Amino acid sequence: MSQSSNQPRKIGVFGGTFDPPHVGHLVVAINVLHELALDEVLLMVANDPWQKRDTRVISPAADRLALVEAAVEDIPGLSASAIELALGGASYTADTLEKLLADDDSVELFTILGADAANGLLTWERHERVAELSTLVVVDRPGVAAELPTLAFGKWVRVEVPHLEVSSSDLRERVRDGRPLDFLVTTQVRSEIAKRSMYAEGDR
Ligand code: ATP
Ligand code: MG
Repeated sequence: MSQSSNQPRKIGVFGGTFDPPHVGHLVVAINVLHELALDEVLLMVANDPWQKRDTRVISPAADRLALVEAAVEDIPGLSASAIELALGGASYTADTLEKLLADDDSVELFTILGADAANGLLTWERHERVAELSTLVVVDRPGVAAELPTLAFGKWVRVEVPHLEVSSSDLRERVRDGRPLDFLVTTQVRSEIAKRSMYAEGDR
């Protein structure tokens, strides 16, 4: 996939808690990469997912980053990003996009959201800025009807991906119940979860 040097690099930013990352995330990332001919999709690990923090115990960001690194290992075009960990504090996509553009103002950014995240976009801190700085890409998520908010700036782009009914919440429950994670996460992610004793009983 050679590209002439005057074309901007197209970068997908796929944010999440990734607690843990699963095949649903990977299938979204790889298909958006392909369909929109992006150069790279960054799985952007939230340092402090502030909208979730009062609802449950969230694994330390460093552990979640290690799981995402394990998940994208050997997958060309996908990478784990620690930008939000480096920024610290509550993670706001607007800040993340500003940081990516401050590092290289020639890139073209795409913010990738599953339907549940897309429906909630207006609750995001400075969501107008997110829509100004990036193209918003929405993918379906089984069990969630996309009710996309009308945007003051920018527009939604839809990408069709295989529908996989997998969630991190279900996976955490599976670990607690001793049910298998096989084929729902990569073998590397499964090993990292075991190595780090994550999602053990009581860790809700
Ligand atoms: P949790 O159950 O803990 O909320 P999750 O599976 O929803 O975890 P997140 O890290 O919250 O994963 O999601 C990150 C992004 O991935 C969001 O945009 C979400 O909509 C999207 N996403 C997660 N799972 C899927 C899936 N199975 N299909 C499509 N999109 C998904
Ligand atoms: Mg979620």
